[in-house]
Amino acid sequence: MKTYHTHQRKSLLDFLKTNSEKAFTIEEIIEGLSGDPISQSTVYRLMTKLVEENLVHRTVKGNSRSFVYQYISDEKCENHLHIKCTDCGKVYHLDSGVTSIIQNNTGFEIDSHTLLLGKCGECKE
Ligand SMILES: [Zn+2]
Ligand SMILES: [Zn+2]
Repeated sequence: MKTYHTHQRKSLLDFLKTNSEKAFTIEEIIEGLSGDPISQSTVYRLMTKLVEENLVHRTVKGNSRSFVYQYISDEKCENHLHIKCTDCGKVYHLDSGVTSIIQNNTGFEIDSHTLLLGKCGECKE
């Protein structure tokens, strides 16, 4: 049933891409795909694959045991840094100007995979 899964993979990726500024739990992904129902075990399996392929970031949500997933577009992401909320796991893409400022001020060449940690606006409150 290869084509079947290809289709599910596509709807999963489409959903994450259109919401690439957010991080989702598996349950939220399933809910978001309500128009195209996919079983929980299939979503788990597909997400594991997407994480392995570096298309999706997986982070732990706050102090909980649940994971949140967020789409990462790699071509663009090579040129800028990311900041991750340690509470909800959301990953923000920083403007590439930030990298230039640091490089110009310190002479450092920054590893683009560096992940800065912090608290997002929503979790700060
Ligand atoms: Zn990025
Ligand atoms: Zn947050």
